Amino acid sequence: MASSTPERPAPTWEEIEALRRQLVTLQRVSSLGVLAGGICHELNNALTPILNYAKLGLRNPDPAYRQRAFEKILEGAQRAAAITGGVLGLARPRADRRDPTDLVRLAEEVLLLVGKDLSRHQVRVDFQAEGHPNARVNPAQIQQVILNLVINARQAMPGGGTVRVRVGTDPSGRMAELSVSDTGMGIAPADLRRIFEPFFTTKTGPDDLGQGGTGLGLSVCREIVESHKGRLRAESRLGQGSTFTLRLPICAAPAKQVVA
Ligand code: ADP
Repeated sequence: MASSTPERPAPTWEEIEALRRQLVTLQRVSSLGVLAGGICHELNNALTPILNYAKLGLRNPDPAYRQRAFEKILEGAQRAAAITGGVLGLARPRADRRDPTDLVRLAEEVLLLVGKDLSRHQVRVDFQAEGHPNARVNPAQIQQVILNLVINARQAMPGGGTVRVRVGTDPSGRMAELSVSDTGMGIAPADLRRIFEPFFTTKTGPDDLGQGGTGLGLSVCREIVESHKGRLRAESRLGQGSTFTLRLPICAAPAKQVVA
């Protein structure tokens, strides 16, 4: 007699949605893992002047000197707060709240987190902003997209190069536009058609963390962008580099001040 395994009921919409959220979080945490070493280094760089100027200020009674020391301590503390704020904003799973957000500021925060990782890999950053377009977004999710695009760009340039990040508006003026270009290996036309498929990866060798690619980054990025009524597309020439462009509807309301 043929045995039959009990059929598993089809997942409910809520279960699919819970899995989708887990995937987005997993992918975000994995991007942060790539940066962990660089982030600690950045934090140390911010803490060093705080410690040194605090010691020097304590020893030196000159009010002008102390004033300068306080300024340096404040600078270092603000930088450290921006770094930890950026990490927390990305790592903490949060409600899907969307606020008018300055995309230039979002990009700057990501570049602050990723800066050390890029310079360690001989990658130069060229950042250009035309105006300050706002879009109504979940800041952590759009930062996750930018972070992923920048990490991919760096991984496409194993010998170093330039990553260009541009923020502006599209020709119609209705969409905010953010692009990430690299001078890396480029993408073969057959691969370019597949890069947004979940689990498509050409990164089979071990990366800095001893792992290969997951092939989840771009599919999660596209899903995040489309859930914001935006578009994410890629252009590439083999051997010459790639450009990923995301467009989001412009929002006329003023940006909320606090991002993280
Ligand atoms: P993963 O990085 O884990 O492979 P992604 O979904 O982020 O997953 O990327 C899928 C594939 O798209 C990569 O394996 C790579 O082949 C290609 N790709 C993405 N970004 C770039 C880039 N900037 N330059 C060259 N290839 C890229």
